[in-house]
Amino acid sequence: MKFLFADSLDFVDPNYDFLADRHGAKRVALHGDEFPHEFLDEVPYDGMLVSRGIVGDGPVAGKYTDAQIMRFRREGARSFLRFEEARFPDTMMMGDCGAFTYRAMAVPPYGGEDTAEFYADGRFTHGCSPDHIIFDFDAPISARTIEEVPEDVRDRYEVTLQNAAEFKAAAKAIGPGFTPMGVIQGWSAASMADAAADLVKMGYDYLALGGTVPLKIHQLRQALAAIRSSIPSDTRLHVLGFGKIECLADLEHFGVTSFDTTSPLVRAFKDAKKNYWMRDAAGDLSYYTAIRIPQATENNKLKAKAREGSVNQEEIRVLESAALVAVREMAGRTGGIDDALDAVMEYWAILNWDEEASPSRRAAAATRQRAVYARTLGERPWEDCTCRVCREGGVEALIFRNSNRNKRRGMHNLHVFHRHLQKFRTTEA
Ligand SMILES: [Zn+2]
Repeated sequence: MKFLFADSLDFVDPNYDFLADRHGAKRVALHGDEFPHEFLDEVPYDGMLVSRGIVGDGPVAGKYTDAQIMRFRREGARSFLRFEEARFPDTMMMGDCGAFTYRAMAVPPYGGEDTAEFYADGRFTHGCSPDHIIFDFDAPISARTIEEVPEDVRDRYEVTLQNAAEFKAAAKAIGPGFTPMGVIQGWSAASMADAAADLVKMGYDYLALGGTVPLKIHQLRQALAAIRSSIPSDTRLHVLGFGKIECLADLEHFGVTSFDTTSPLVRAFKDAKKNYWMRDAAGDLSYYTAIRIPQATENNKLKAKAREGSVNQEEIRVLESAALVAVREMAGRTGGIDDALDAVMEYWAILNWDEEASPSRRAAAATRQRAVYARTLGERPWEDCTCRVCREGGVEALIFRNSNRNKRRGMHNLHVFHRHLQKFRTTEA
């Protein structure tokens, strides 16, 4: 089972100065910054996925500048992402349209022909037909027929299949090094299975299941079971935007060939608790909560409080720097864990000061948080990881603070997740 990382221009400055909290002196943005596969010692995925919606080469505004779009289309995705085949053999460079970015439009802004051109320019190895997300998902017992669903759902279903047919024909011109993938959308397991069977009839031998993000795991299981039973056993299957990475065994069970996710990277800073990943002795993923020590001068909550006059800026800066110093001393074994927790919690109390909460509720919240942080600092997980993030940064990898640090933690998670998947493959096989 291959894991593809869905890139969204995620890189770090390799010379970032943690102590001064600033970029390396000679930083050249983008060129000097490093993607996860450049920064880490080993590539932490089996391929990359780039969404057309993230590039933004058409009516949907993406993340790339005009100059970057031009370079991307001129040099190709691999050269742009410095993910060359020669350096990273046997990897996939997959494209999709990023249906979530245009979910509100009546019809997809891309057609089969221009999408095939986009993949040809980008020199992708794999590319998805332009689909349109369907947000409904009926339980098998009450699944609606195509006549029973609202017109909008029917239109999305039909345009996805029409685009797939058009794209299949247009993709022939790209040449033999390219594998077109037909995207499945549906409002129920049965309608997804029908769509999958239609795509196989069109000649696709690699399908991609879209719209899985809002699905509960039991719904995803229903969908995969129905799809698997409606297509030949050698038809490959990809799951687009697979967020429930705790359920890898389900993908394996239904013969999923590949999936893409951003979860390991984004949970480093978007999840409330699962920020830093580890593989435990039992072979499961386990998680630590990163210690939040935001930059006082850049934190919106603190800035607002300072404007209101409810906190003093100078005082906050003192608490911030005391927390950083105490955590670093604790990590370097020149300071104790209680001192570190005291300092972190003093800053935390200002950050999370809630006028409305009663003193007893405040105290209870602080006690809970302190226990969470005590585990992170007490177990010293950064000492057990050999990836470059932990090797070079040590405890800095566990501090939740600005993008360079948070994305590094995300890269550590990618490393851990890829290793986990490799071990998982050998034990499941
Ligand atoms: Zn690490």
